[in-house]
Amino acid sequence: MVQVEDCIGCEECIPYCTVGALSMGNDGVVVVDGSRCTDCYVCIRSKCCPVDTIVPGPLNTFNDNFRHVLSDPTETTAETGVPGRGTEESKTNDVTGRFRKDEAGICIDMGRPGVGVRMRDVEKVAVAVVRAGLKIPGPEETPLAKVMADRTTGKLKDDVLDEYLLSIIIEGTCPLDKVEGVLRALRSVEKEIDTVFSLGIVLQVDENGYHPVLDTLEAFGIKPYRGKVNVGFGRPLAT
Ligand code: SF4
Ligand code: SF4
Repeated sequence: MVQVEDCIGCEECIPYCTVGALSMGNDGVVVVDGSRCTDCYVCIRSKCCPVDTIVPGPLNTFNDNFRHVLSDPTETTAETGVPGRGTEESKTNDVTGRFRKDEAGICIDMGRPGVGVRMRDVEKVAVAVVRAGLKIPGPEETPLAKVMADRTTGKLKDDVLDEYLLSIIIEGTCPLDKVEGVLRALRSVEKEIDTVFSLGIVLQVDENGYHPVLDTLEAFGIKPYRGKVNVGFGRPLAT
């Protein structure tokens, strides 16, 4: 967590914290809640402190670095080489061939500034969707895989479960006939978690923009918002 020295108690920084981890202590200096600080460094980058007294704390452990890199969008994940939570999500599927015609790409984007996400809740969702048929790729494609104990069950390593991040994406692929089961799993597990998530589904639609999975979404009461349409510009890497 970030450290505060020589605070003059002006309270300028408190509204800048993305997850409410800063508060005024009884002795008139600001206190950082170590169980909530995500090391996003917004309070530092914003230069809100008039005496520049908020500084990064030591990032000694793997978990410290994982939390910081996932929460600070200016950092790049080493394994994927991608900044901003380390995943390219669905942006380049036509170019990279990451998603095939007979499968759906699924992105479950958990947490948000103002809310955050505990990794214990990430595990609950990951276990539910993996059981329903989602396949999680390796750490070279998604940072979450680095903290998974078993990608075939969705279980995370025990020592990461209490970590609190700004947000993280559970992403993977599943055969088209498993999409409905994944949606059911999400509907069921959403009642057990203390954060928000958004759902992205990557599909290769026909020339009219239609795909049968869109009907499945409608049946679940989910009105699909079509975004990030990739029209195939760029140099294809996939053969
Ligand atoms: S690093 Fe982020 S979470 Fe931690 S105190 Fe600063 S703004 Fe809040
Ligand atoms: S902005 Fe700086 S001086 Fe003011 S309360 Fe925060 S840490 Fe203390």
